[in-house]
Amino acid sequence: MLPAYIYHPDCSKHEMGSMHPECPERTGAIHDHLLMKGLLEFMQPFEAPAATEEQLARAHTMLHVHEMAAKSPAEGYEQVDPDTWMNPHTYQAALHAAGAAVLATDLVLRGEAPVAFCNVRPPGHHAERAQAGGFCFFNNVAIGIRHALDVHGLQRVALVDFDVHHGNGSEDIFHDDERVLMCSTFEYDLYPFFGHEPRGPNMVNIGLTPRAGGEGFRMAVDQFWLPALEKFRPQMIFISAGFDGHREDDMGNLGLVEADYEWVTRQVMEIARRYAQGRVVSCLEGGYVMSPLARSAAAHVKVLIGAD
Ligand SMILES: [Zn+2]
Repeated sequence: MLPAYIYHPDCSKHEMGSMHPECPERTGAIHDHLLMKGLLEFMQPFEAPAATEEQLARAHTMLHVHEMAAKSPAEGYEQVDPDTWMNPHTYQAALHAAGAAVLATDLVLRGEAPVAFCNVRPPGHHAERAQAGGFCFFNNVAIGIRHALDVHGLQRVALVDFDVHHGNGSEDIFHDDERVLMCSTFEYDLYPFFGHEPRGPNMVNIGLTPRAGGEGFRMAVDQFWLPALEKFRPQMIFISAGFDGHREDDMGNLGLVEADYEWVTRQVMEIARRYAQGRVVSCLEGGYVMSPLARSAAAHVKVLIGAD
């Protein structure tokens, strides 16, 4: 039984203008590097289905779901927030990115894959219940988590988010859902410019100072994430895997390196093995400079699939 690798060709058709950092090359750069590193040999590939309205509506208002469909342009671009745009392929890409998280959840909970990595875009963790934004349209991990809870009947699911930006969308969706524990580290002076004050007791939000580096990041995970996860005893863990905290990525200034992503993945896998039968689903979020993105994602996937 091999770990699942989930992708869809539409993910590289969504683009928001030639200068936009959330570019179509991102998923291909990761794919090529996983292939080059030999990691895809240890994974079973799946094409992501499109998420259904019913699946999307577990994390979003129906109005938001319909608004995204209605805004989808036949040609050119449609702006949905100051830095988030739709092209004619965006809506389909967003449906498949969300559908990837649903398929990943099904595979892992049916015992058909021990873990799953979704190499998909658009990313999701800034998409709120009723609002697209921050390059995100639908909240992929949140849709997967609600699928695990509402369809598979799990009672406790954890979400860990190590993207350099706070996952405000995920917090918006889960702050009043005690079945979910969300642990987030982020650089405090970046988009969405809030997150210090957790919106619920099930939120562990740790704002890091610029240049906190691997040491500051690991200390936050050790001191805040791990005790909260131990106490929560999750039956499954989702990862919002953003790699824009890397020191070569100019989107943030945390100064992380591949070894930090490897380390945090190892900590999460340890908790998952102890409480969750090793069940982990990881979804790509940020990471905007191709080489560090690809290297960091490979470092993460290597530990995720147990090839380290
Ligand atoms: Zn980010």
